[in-house]
Parts: sequence; structure tokens; C-alpha cells
Amino acid sequence: MEPNLEERGRAVISAMRGIPGISHLPVDELDAIPLGLLRRSATRLHAVCRYRKGVRKAEGVTPSDVRCIDVHPYALTEEWSRYADFLLYHEYLHALGISNHGRVFRELEALWPDEVARGMGEGFGVHLRERSARWLWVCPSCGDRHPRARRGNGRYRCRDCRVVLEDVET
Ligand SMILES: [Zn+2]
Ligand SMILES: [Zn+2]
Repeated sequence: MEPNLEERGRAVISAMRGIPGISHLPVDELDAIPLGLLRRSATRLHAVCRYRKGVRKAEGVTPSDVRCIDVHPYALTEEWSRYADFLLYHEYLHALGISNHGRVFRELEALWPDEVARGMGEGFGVHLRERSARWLWVCPSCGDRHPRARRGNGRYRCRDCRVVLEDVET
């Protein structure tokens, strides 16, 4: 386990003890959940709460039903560390028994005190796609960049400038 990640997990759990809105949940049991990393190549998943085999979410989940929580390694860079804390908070909420993303979950999620971090998901997604893309289709006029797996070969134009996009290898 990444020492940095373990520390982060402890810090997030400690912050969670200070959130009155979740004091009815077994926050103290979260310490026992092992933390791990997603593959570097993951682009859609930012973090995940993996339950033990045979656990039925519909019957209610507690932290002891969780096998591990995995976080994207790029979220642990300095640039994204605030988002990593929020990801851990999000997955810990799943571990506390709220397994879906319904209204209750969203209300609890919004209790995380770092408002900026709560809004970083979209930017992190773009970051991951750019990192994994082999090509960028770049508008020479406005500089817009579109990460892609293939070359555009001059077939596409910028939506705003109508200029042909150029292929730049990453
Ligand atoms: Zn979730
Ligand atoms: Zn443009």
C-alpha cells in the first residue's frame, strides 16, 4: 500500500468524525478497510469501493463487507490531492452502507467541507483522457485540444472556428 494513501485515508476518516451529519454511521469501522490503487491506464473509473464476494448491496452494507477501496494513482499527485480526499470520502460513504448514488447519498456527499474538491471530477476526467490519448486534435486558431486514440487526418474542423484540426502526437 502507498504510505501516502494510507495517511490520506486516516486524515479523511478523521475529518469525517467532525461531520455531524454522518455521526449516526459507523465511521470508526472505516480504519480497517485496505486501500489500493487502480491501474494507471484507467480512464473512466476514478475510485471504487469493492465489496467482498457474496455481499448483497440491497441487504445493507457495513465497512466489514468491504474488501478494499481503490483510488486512481494520478489522484495522489499534488495537483489532484484534494480531489483524492473527496474520492476517499465518496467511497467511504459507500462503505458505510449507502451503496447507490440516490438522493441520500448526494446529500451526504455534499457535506464534505472542501467545496472546490467536490467540483474537480470533470477536470480530473479530462486530465486522465489527455494523459492516455495518443493524439491530440488541436485547433490552430483557438488552441482547443481534443484527446483521441487516432489521428484526425484533416477530416475534422473546430466547432467554433471552422478551421481544420491538426494532429499532435502526445
Ligand atoms: Zn460512487
Ligand atoms: Zn478553434
